[in-house]
Amino acid sequence: MSNHPLILVLNCGSSSLKGAVLDVVNGKVLLSCVAEKLGFADAFITFKADGDKHKVALGGDHSHTVAVEALMAELKVHHLHHKIAAVGHRVVHGGERFTHSTLIDDQVMRDIETCIVLAPLHNPAHILGIRAAQAVFADLPHVAVFDTAFHQTMPEQAYRYAVPTELYTQYGVRRYGMHGTSYRFVAQETARFLGRAETELALVIAHLGNGASITAVLNGQSRDTSMGLTPLEGLVMGTRSGDIDPSIFSFLQENANLDMAEITAMLNHKSGLLGLSDLSNDCRTLEEAAANGHKGALLALEVFAYRLAKYVAAMTVANGRLDALVFTGGIGENSTFVREKVLSHLAVLGLSIDHDANLAACFGRAGIISQPGKTPLALVIPTNEELMIAQDTAQLAGLSI
Ligand code: ADP
Repeated sequence: MSNHPLILVLNCGSSSLKGAVLDVVNGKVLLSCVAEKLGFADAFITFKADGDKHKVALGGDHSHTVAVEALMAELKVHHLHHKIAAVGHRVVHGGERFTHSTLIDDQVMRDIETCIVLAPLHNPAHILGIRAAQAVFADLPHVAVFDTAFHQTMPEQAYRYAVPTELYTQYGVRRYGMHGTSYRFVAQETARFLGRAETELALVIAHLGNGASITAVLNGQSRDTSMGLTPLEGLVMGTRSGDIDPSIFSFLQENANLDMAEITAMLNHKSGLLGLSDLSNDCRTLEEAAANGHKGALLALEVFAYRLAKYVAAMTVANGRLDALVFTGGIGENSTFVREKVLSHLAVLGLSIDHDANLAACFGRAGIISQPGKTPLALVIPTNEELMIAQDTAQLAGLSI
């Protein structure tokens, strides 16, 4: 085993904690864990290391701290604990305050708290997780890496909504965007893959997972993105509607007797691919069903691809030109079907598809999938948000790698 310093990357939800120990030099994950049902009596944590997977019940108060303590005990079993040099924390919302990743101190904690109004489900969980990790890994530097930070370079014309100004000045109502860590990683990797400088590329990157968004990246900087004040805006997603006429709230209140909370929950959890197909939020399941003649599944995939293609054109406008369209995330990296459908709408931008190359660029393999010699390029570049968090953490902790 190498003697490189290791980084622990943590991603905490309100009742979950995901952790990974990474070697930043070669990107290897030496140990990973997922704690579930935190705060409940049946809380447990699952560890994966050296090809082995096992589950441990979490006693005590079943808290995030108990989960981090169990992680520490497991690290000791694998003789990894003394090699961990810093801890990187994923934080969903950094508002306008955080434009980059940062070392965590008391002021940073207060500022993450201030952003709770913008991410009421996520930021409190991150704070719990950071406090738990600071207690257990007390001597190590801790770093916060924000999903929103990369998008802070968007110009005002892209991030402002056409609503009364005071909604922005008093309440911070604007477009913030998400998946920034993924976009930063994929933009860098695309430049590396193409052997070109990031600062000379106009990219449109589509991050297509359960949550999905798309970003215009010009010269390495975000110029516009599809998610907004919350992750609900933009593309069709697994269970989220994406863009919709906001009048749906008053319409459904009057006609379907639903209240605001019910409609919000429906747009977030019962819509998107799931709502359209009446079958599943999972792209793979829908592809199989569509192949067997399920009409709803086919419609869901058609709407997903068409809306995405429209956004590719919009993001091309944000950049002023297009060198490459890049697919990433579980769907972007694996669904040859969706990529083909999206590109079939985009001949208008000069985009094309090479069917064999499309089939070859799957399951973690990067590749150019447009036809040889044609521009703009279409590419598949696998994302790695954990590695990006680990690299930021190592750099801010001053580790020489
Ligand atoms: P998350 O946003 O939760 O990180 P992922 O990036 O893992 O999600 O993406 C999950 C999505 O990727 C699911 O819709 C899944 O069906 C899709 N996906 C994964 N593998 C394939 C595949 N081989 N073909 C089509 N879709 C796939």
